[in-house]
Amino acid sequence: MYHQTALYIDGEWCQGSEGITSDVFNPATGEVIGQVPHASRADLQRAVDASVRAFEQWRHVTPHERVKVLRKAGDLLRERVEGIARLMTLEQGKPLAESRGELLFAAEHIDWCADEGRRLYGRIVPGRASNVRQLVIREPVGPVAAFSPWNFPVSQMIRKIAGALATGCTVTIKAPEETPASCMEAVRCFADAGVPRGALNLVFGVPSEISNFLIPAQGIRKVSFTGSVPVGKKLAALAAENMKRCTMELGGHAPTIAFGDVDPTWVAETLAAVKFRNAGQTCISPTRFYIHESIHDAFVERFVEIASSLRVGDGMSADTQMGPLANPRRVAAMEHFVDDAVHHGARVATGGKRLAGSGYFYAPTVLVDVPEEAAIMNEEPFGPIVPIARFKSFEEVVARANRLPFGLAAYAFSRSLETTAALSERIEAGMLSVNGALLTSPETPFGGIKDSGFGSEGGIEGMESYLTTKLISEIRVGGRVSELGGA
Ligand code: NAD
Repeated sequence: MYHQTALYIDGEWCQGSEGITSDVFNPATGEVIGQVPHASRADLQRAVDASVRAFEQWRHVTPHERVKVLRKAGDLLRERVEGIARLMTLEQGKPLAESRGELLFAAEHIDWCADEGRRLYGRIVPGRASNVRQLVIREPVGPVAAFSPWNFPVSQMIRKIAGALATGCTVTIKAPEETPASCMEAVRCFADAGVPRGALNLVFGVPSEISNFLIPAQGIRKVSFTGSVPVGKKLAALAAENMKRCTMELGGHAPTIAFGDVDPTWVAETLAAVKFRNAGQTCISPTRFYIHESIHDAFVERFVEIASSLRVGDGMSADTQMGPLANPRRVAAMEHFVDDAVHHGARVATGGKRLAGSGYFYAPTVLVDVPEEAAIMNEEPFGPIVPIARFKSFEEVVARANRLPFGLAAYAFSRSLETTAALSERIEAGMLSVNGALLTSPETPFGGIKDSGFGSEGGIEGMESYLTTKLISEIRVGGRVSELGGA
């Protein structure tokens, strides 16, 4: 059921002009299930040229018309959810229910951006003289080069595409080589909905070769990247060298703090429900657990109970609760984190090993009494491992939460408004979830601070990132234009 994948350039589905491909794997079996074509430099140039040409047309399509096309794309994605979800699970590994949920969320994101595209208002600033009128208008920034990751193959890609197209920009997206088929089918929804040729191009290849070509390319005006901090820093530097605007949505290491006044069982259940989603390969996943010493043991007991009873298996099976990791690199990373934590004195409360079989499976793992020096307390795990540490006081836990260079998501649990209000002010993160794990919706800004990047996707802030500001200062020189000798 896996099918031939393709690039989409200037309105045509095609293979790379140099015939280069790489393998696509099913992470649940480790088997090769298909090939992904690589775009050559000539293909990339065609994509850039097409997006520059299409921009001159798409930017002038009224928001009223754009919304119809984009809404149709969202509807098509919903109609095709079953087929695309199966492709995504085959190539990425997540359970089918999660793939469906991701696609439905992506469709909502398209709807929201489409509608918000009608509200890209400017303003009038009173002049300093009575014959002066000052208009501030918003214009689409131009053709965008976007790079999206494999953990949420469609929703991460669609955040970029929907924001760009809804504001009148065109976009060339390098989607993940690990998951080309689901990305291709999501792009097909836009094509079938009537997005004009060239306004949306899809490419795959060697990531660094593509970014080195697209970011400096003449005609590209903005860069949007979601991925790791080291790669983000490189791409941001390249964008800066070429004076291109950019949005960087990078990794984090979310401090997750439970104070002593909460029910530890409820917090354990709330966190377990989100922690193992996508096998923990989520940039806002709760990743460093600081549990107040007074509730620590009860929390660990319930959390371990849930983690150890999760059904891990092929995402295509209806009863699977957690699938494999997306690639063998992640399994190797998990092994390193656990060995290192144990070496630093942590105890494995459950899991701590790869699972038998040919797929990339790693057991849901809980580590307790993990010292701050362990690698897992300093590097984003991006997998199903939960390191837990105890804390005593508010000041101590704030210092520990803020000590890393990351600042994406954070989670806090307390019944005291005084505590959560103080934490809201003190925590260094782009997003804080209090007494729950709700951080992602199309209408709210999603993004980090510090090394976790800059700019937002979602919310009006996400739309802003695709717009430039123009001031028009008009001086009325008296009389009608025709009386002044104008046309
Ligand atoms: P990686 O750093 O090699 O790749 C991360 C992503 O960036 C991939 O999608 C890859 O295709 C892309 N990429 C890599 N080099 C690039 C380049 N020079 N130009 C353009 N794109 C490039 O790491 P990985 O092993 O694939 O993933 C592991 C790490 O990546 C995780 O630890 C996590 O921090 C990060 N990651 C973050 C997110 C996120 O949602 N923020 C998503 C995926 C991966």
